[in-house]
Amino acid sequence: MSEVIYGGKCKSCGTVSYPRRAVCANCRNESFDRIEIGGEGKVLTYTDVYALAIDYETRYLRLAIVELDDGIRVTGQLLDDDPKLGKRVKSTIGVVREPGDKPIMGLQFVPV
Ligand SMILES: [Zn+2]
Repeated sequence: MSEVIYGGKCKSCGTVSYPRRAVCANCRNESFDRIEIGGEGKVLTYTDVYALAIDYETRYLRLAIVELDDGIRVTGQLLDDDPKLGKRVKSTIGVVREPGDKPIMGLQFVPV
């Protein structure tokens, strides 16, 4: 199990993206430093996604955009049956997808 999730910090303007992008959304630069993503934050918005690839075993995914306490906004899976905007959550790392026999690790959020 991997314990650390990394985002990309733009080498030109410092904008952090997670999931990492090939091109900076702010300045179009294509060069990034790896930066550790995690900690606590609050839910900015969330949505339930039902149109999933066939290898998902769940009926839907609840995805949230969370603003971490260091100001970074990240997208991750929200593991909360009673989600609310502004609710405090903390990040954890878990299996977000299991296509075949190779689990994909990603960012998840649980209530604090
Ligand atoms: Zn940039």
